[in-house]
Amino acid sequence: MKNRIFLSSPHMSGNEQAYIKEAFDTNWIAPLGANVDGFEAEIAAYAGSEGAAAVSSGTAAIHLALDLLGVGQGDTVFCSSLTFIATANPILYLGADPVFIDSDEESWNISPVALERALVEAKAEDKLPKAVLIVNLYGQSAEMDELMALCNAYGIPVIEDAAESLGASYKGKKSGTFGKFGVFSFNGNKIITTSGGGMLVSDDVEQISRSRFLATQARDQAKHYQHSVVGYNYRMSNVLAGIGRAQLEVLDERVKARRAVFERYVEALGEVDGLEFMPELEGTYGNRWLTTLTLDPEKIKVTPYKLIDALAEENIEARPVWKPLHLQPVFEGCKFYAHGENDDVSQRLFERGLCLPSGSNMSIEEQHKVIEVIIHNLTKTAMK
Ligand SMILES: *Cc1c(COP(=O)(O)O)cnc(C)c1O
Repeated sequence: MKNRIFLSSPHMSGNEQAYIKEAFDTNWIAPLGANVDGFEAEIAAYAGSEGAAAVSSGTAAIHLALDLLGVGQGDTVFCSSLTFIATANPILYLGADPVFIDSDEESWNISPVALERALVEAKAEDKLPKAVLIVNLYGQSAEMDELMALCNAYGIPVIEDAAESLGASYKGKKSGTFGKFGVFSFNGNKIITTSGGGMLVSDDVEQISRSRFLATQARDQAKHYQHSVVGYNYRMSNVLAGIGRAQLEVLDERVKARRAVFERYVEALGEVDGLEFMPELEGTYGNRWLTTLTLDPEKIKVTPYKLIDALAEENIEARPVWKPLHLQPVFEGCKFYAHGENDDVSQRLFERGLCLPSGSNMSIEEQHKVIEVIIHNLTKTAMK
């Protein structure tokens, strides 16, 4: 069996063990400890935010952010539709209703046009959302200037789901630092990993400190166990934070490596008529977490699923683009604002889209193999 080529697998730096060893040597396995404090300070410094709270997952960080914004039963939260389910699940945890917003072609991210339409309507119905969840898909920044201007005009706080975009920047400002809260994920497939974990960042250090309180069962200051509000068990372990600290040291290298992977795909496949890579907005620097592209069915006869199957036969992992949340059974009946009338961009991106192996630890030979299989399958169908 040939070695499997993964979509995005963990890529250790080699320094992780030193931090883990320190946790063991001092017996700070749990709870919390120097690695957690260090990792929080280092992420805050890296991103340029005032505060950061290390938690057990990106999903937990989103849940905490929504909770801190007072989202509850019967509230609405606007949310990117083209994203992983983890972005929106916490809206349901709190009993609120998601309203999904379409993407635009320029960024694949939340469409300012659709968002504006949704805000105008919500205002007219006196049902403005408690928050807007903006996702930076596959490491590409959303149109933050336009989106922030809109949300500020309506006074709606923004949560930036930067789970996929750690290390990216928009007009020189780091991804995850635009809204009231930003969220990072260190899940195993992300650009850096703690095997599992997340981070909540904000310039509001009081809210960050409250997030730590909520994430440790909301225990009041008292000698006995006293609780006045609902809390969670969401803190990151001190051992895993050690992995994160070593990973963060090489984040910029990882971004460069993923961008180089993307460049090699473009070099090899950029001229294929009907094949388009996810664009990068002017003035922005994406981390190219995953190289993603679309196949135009008018020009390319092989479907994304066929190509995924063909790659799988060669032990290569490729994936469809996220299935939009407004098309997911679990969100049936939720409101959705398309980019244009009869123009559902996220659905089209889903139907035509494909994510290619993009790991920073993929060798050039492995990538050549991926490219070879793709070209072979594109030309095979073209000749038929
Ligand atoms: C990975 C991811 C999350 C969730 O992160 P976890 O750490 O796996 O909980 C949230 N949003 C997006 C867009 C993601 O890709």
